[in-house]
Amino acid sequence: MVQSAEHNINPEKISANALKVLDALTTAGFEAYLVGGGVRDLLLGLSPKDFDIATSASPEEIKPLFRNCRLIGRRFRLAHVVFGREVIEVATFRADHGQGEGGESRADGRIVRDNVFGTVEEDALRRDFTINALYYANHDAAVLDFVGALEDIKSRTLRLIGEPDVRVKEDPVRCLRAARFSAKLGFDVATDVRQAMTEHAHLLRDIPPARLFEEVLKLFHSGHAVQSFDKLREFDLLQYLFPVADDRLKRDDARFEAFVYQALQNTDDRIAEGKPVTPAFLYAVMLWPQVEKLAQDYLDEEPPVTAILRAADSVVTAQMAYTSLPKRFSVPMREIWAMQPRLERYQGKRALHLLRSARFRAGYDFLLLRSHVDSNLRERADWWTKTQESHPVEPDHGRRFPRTRSGKSSRSGTKSRAS
Ligand code: ATP
Ligand code: MG
Repeated sequence: MVQSAEHNINPEKISANALKVLDALTTAGFEAYLVGGGVRDLLLGLSPKDFDIATSASPEEIKPLFRNCRLIGRRFRLAHVVFGREVIEVATFRADHGQGEGGESRADGRIVRDNVFGTVEEDALRRDFTINALYYANHDAAVLDFVGALEDIKSRTLRLIGEPDVRVKEDPVRCLRAARFSAKLGFDVATDVRQAMTEHAHLLRDIPPARLFEEVLKLFHSGHAVQSFDKLREFDLLQYLFPVADDRLKRDDARFEAFVYQALQNTDDRIAEGKPVTPAFLYAVMLWPQVEKLAQDYLDEEPPVTAILRAADSVVTAQMAYTSLPKRFSVPMREIWAMQPRLERYQGKRALHLLRSARFRAGYDFLLLRSHVDSNLRERADWWTKTQESHPVEPDHGRRFPRTRSGKSSRSGTKSRAS
């Protein structure tokens, strides 16, 4: 173990609430450290999203130290110390039993299902990448490194702790995490990790779609969507998340590629500007060409909107076997799609009516995106832009818009309200 006081962590960048929790735990006689992504980001001069704490105190010992402390989780209990909108997550040091050695459990009486409490070193060894296993003790401002993480930070390398084959097989989601961290931090993935990823990534097929949905959100809604997507393609992981999109890109569909990258760039821009983003839009983009293609086959029998919705049913059902999408997002996603034929055709009164519908903004944003790669749609997109400007929607209505709205144009005052 290396205990280093030579680091560039600026304690002023640590949340005051996290420092309070560290303080309270050490004062009560427990070991307590800042750990994980927070320490990594501080060392890299980034601003951490959140601060996690690891401690020798058990959940039952943590709880009485804080007024606003909830114990959560069934499989492994964690403490959440709540300060208004900020939640500091406090976890007891844990050791994964039998890690890589066949998974026999250690019957030492402290097993919580497949977890046992452990020492700080054991806690470090069960983490995924070395750079995510650094511990920062506030009382003496030292960084603890059990796994060569400081060197990996210096050489900007993502290295799995332990045997990469074993660690990837144990949890294939680590492949997606490698792509994500490599995108976010601009780190190289160590050669042996790449090899293990190539060999075992297919195990991602057995990961529940709901867990993969969570990873999709982290990959695409953390401000590095473009780089994350590039890394997924580089490591050939896209097939496990969005197989249809992967297939198109592998067949060099340049139009679709431009469409997707424009959407990812818009997402990154919105996040940089502090605007809300929704997975409904991202999924709408990834699945659109398939919906459009299938709908084509139904057009002889059905009107365009019905054809789209019928196509949507089968495309969405197939996608849910890979990554799920909760209903609160899949409903607006369908509405975005269903609005496309209307946006392409409506004039006059019907157009004004559509303009006032709750999902107009998202549908219109989607049409704009399509018009980026399809010059036939440009005139229509411009028409809607102008029509909106000359018929601003009353502000009350704006509130019912989906989370993709950019707000401004739909929130002009009642003075200019459409007649
Ligand atoms: P971010 O800044 O994106 O949140 P993070 O490193 O904090 O990055 P989290 O997913 O929040 O990532 O996880 C917190 C910590 O928990 C990680 O730093 C890592 O030490 C550990 N961890 C998370 N997921 C895994 C996993 N699948 N396998 C092993 N360790 C993990
Ligand atoms: Mg985190």
